[in-house]
Amino acid sequence: MLELAGVTRDYGSGVVALRDVSLTVERGELVGIVGPSGSGKSTLLHVAGVLDRPTAGRVTVAGHDTARLSDRQLSALRAQHIGFVFQQFHLAPRVPALDNVADGLLYSGVRRAERRERAAQALHRVDLGHRLGHAPHEMSGGERQRVAIARAIVSEPEILYADEPTGNLDSVAGDLVMGILSQLRDAGTTVVIITHDREIAAMLPRQITLRDGRIVPAQVPA
Ligand code: ADP
Repeated sequence: MLELAGVTRDYGSGVVALRDVSLTVERGELVGIVGPSGSGKSTLLHVAGVLDRPTAGRVTVAGHDTARLSDRQLSALRAQHIGFVFQQFHLAPRVPALDNVADGLLYSGVRRAERRERAAQALHRVDLGHRLGHAPHEMSGGERQRVAIARAIVSEPEILYADEPTGNLDSVAGDLVMGILSQLRDAGTTVVIITHDREIAAMLPRQITLRDGRIVPAQVPA
């Protein structure tokens, strides 16, 4: 589903955020990208989410070698195959949950009635079927993040990147969000979670650890 081969991202002025990173995420995996602040996690998310191009190396997403694609084709790849969830939710304020989610399909060519129908289904999947008409300011942080997940999955992406999805939540709301991400994986979506939180990371079946822009080799238990 995702392959990085020898990926380097050099921001210039001596800042090399990723150094020769190679990794593979199989279809249907749930993986954590973990590491301390400044280790290159966000840069990895940008490169793997085809929001940014590497300075060197190859990035393949859903079978597409991204170096061969124009910026326009990369946008299409994101729209069709990739979903994003961020720590800060990024929802439109004072806009009902249903419309916030339906807007995730604005550029997909899907007609308005179907956008709303699919948005309602996505909100049901995150257990917010009873809050369709509520705006983010009427919801708790955990509910807002579930709306954001619904918006990310309304286009039925094959791979979902979640950047510190529980970073602004208390532990109960955080566990609920992690449960939903894990259910999505069970339903076939590949899920990549970026986190510096060791407790969150420990819940995940596989972790890839970054330090100073490099992958730390997995420790084999003694
Ligand atoms: P993390 O997400 O693990 O905190 P980042 O990928 O944000 O790590 O950052 C890795 C390194 O790259 C840091 O030294 C950071 O200051 C630097 N960096 C991140 N984004 C940029 C940018 N757009 N321009 C220059 N340096 C950057």
